[in-house]
Amino acid sequence: MFTDESGRLGNVPSVDTLRKAMNEPTCCGAVTPAFGKITVKSLMDQIGATVRGRLAEANLTQSENEARKFILKEFARTGKPPAEKAIVEAMKLPSVEAVHKFIERLHKADILTMEGGEIISAYPFSARKTRHKVAFPDGHEIYSLCATDALGIHFMLGENIVVRSRCPECEGEMKIEVKDGKIASCVPEGVVESVSSGDHCGCTAKTFCPFMNFFCSKEHLEKWREKNPASAQGEMYQLQQVLEHGKYTFGDFLK
Ligand SMILES: [Zn+2]
Repeated sequence: MFTDESGRLGNVPSVDTLRKAMNEPTCCGAVTPAFGKITVKSLMDQIGATVRGRLAEANLTQSENEARKFILKEFARTGKPPAEKAIVEAMKLPSVEAVHKFIERLHKADILTMEGGEIISAYPFSARKTRHKVAFPDGHEIYSLCATDALGIHFMLGENIVVRSRCPECEGEMKIEVKDGKIASCVPEGVVESVSSGDHCGCTAKTFCPFMNFFCSKEHLEKWREKNPASAQGEMYQLQQVLEHGKYTFGDFLK
């Protein structure tokens, strides 16, 4: 349980509570170690809880929630968000303006991110190229925002996936196959995930996602951390743990 700013108890910390817990400033500028007194295990859990919690906090009506799911399903199908006109038609919303307002609301709630009036990502998907490419059984491919999101997509859509991700240290490709809730194969075998936090505040997509990556081995992660001391305080997860985090965060995202 967490206590929010007004003293209410809840299962999910607010973004502000999370920032405070992490000793992070609430505005950009100051750089403090992101990993304060809390354990990294609980940090990873809190990231998942925050993504899930935002959805609960947004308090969407049933039709708004259907529109949100429509956006995610289109992202999964095409790798891009649907056009506003398509949302109007599919969701029988009154106008493009109504969709505009709705998308702006999702943006403010950090359920999706926008740039220049366009949706560029909706957890776990990115319309822009990232290190993590996810392929579906029919052959089509999309990008995920981060390593955890890539594996979470399997649980969100209930489809077997093959993730191809590039190691930040050597730029070598790693291939992870997720089938029926399990890691079916992984090449090379020693893949690990590193989670660290960015030195600026903002939405999860910008603060955490660029810092949640697969590395082809523990050795490559260590080498990379030597060269990137700002991220040296991050934590390392085994693939099985990443799978569990992905399931926890995205398992019921479309339900
Ligand atoms: Zn590597």
